[in-house]
Amino acid sequence: MNITGFKKDNSIAQFQELMRRTYSVPDDRYYSLWDLLINQERFAMRSLKGIRKGDCKKLKNNLAIAFSWMMTIGNRLHIDVEKETWRRFPFACSYCKSAPCRCKKEKKKKGRKSSMISRKKPETLSDFQEMFGIIYPPERRTLEEAGIHLAEEIGELSEAILCYCGEHKKRQFKKIEIEIADYVSCVFGVTNSARVDMATELSKIFHHGCQVCHKVPCGCNFSFVGKYKS
Ligand SMILES: [Zn+2]
Ligand SMILES: [Zn+2]
Repeated sequence: MNITGFKKDNSIAQFQELMRRTYSVPDDRYYSLWDLLINQERFAMRSLKGIRKGDCKKLKNNLAIAFSWMMTIGNRLHIDVEKETWRRFPFACSYCKSAPCRCKKEKKKKGRKSSMISRKKPETLSDFQEMFGIIYPPERRTLEEAGIHLAEEIGELSEAILCYCGEHKKRQFKKIEIEIADYVSCVFGVTNSARVDMATELSKIFHHGCQVCHKVPCGCNFSFVGKYKS
């Protein structure tokens, strides 16, 4: 895969590969796994601030950056984010195994039945967003609720990484893979609730290499990244 920029019809795997090519060199030299996690959280929290302030630009820009840091965490741990997302959400809710999700029993039964939905694996990142919109219809929650759910998942991922880094057990690593998939689900939960197309956003800011210096590999220095405003 000789990818140097993200296009709207690219896959999650292609985005992860772009992040590997762009950021592996600086990230491996500058950041521990914890540093990567902190950077991911930092931009995700700014995105939540965008929700609180009703600032869609802040929301989508920072969510795209947070998502890119999550790919870097996947790369550091050699986790295939697209594969794990599909394993956890094969066109169905990971708990009730339905699409749309039936976890909260509804009195009025409406919506498509899961049997009517094609369960083919989505090809592009955009197709994944659409799939999550079918599993978890955005009209069932507010944007604020979607944001809170994302924050919960970030906490669960931190916990999974903490446990794994302490004991290095296989089942703990599995938990990280699950939590990354849940994170992806919640990122698309926010974008679907905010009517933001993540693929478009990523194609705008990662059209060539690093979203700031546009180099492959990224040439941004440590202090600059630490003070980066978005
Ligand atoms: Zn469910
Ligand atoms: Zn850069």
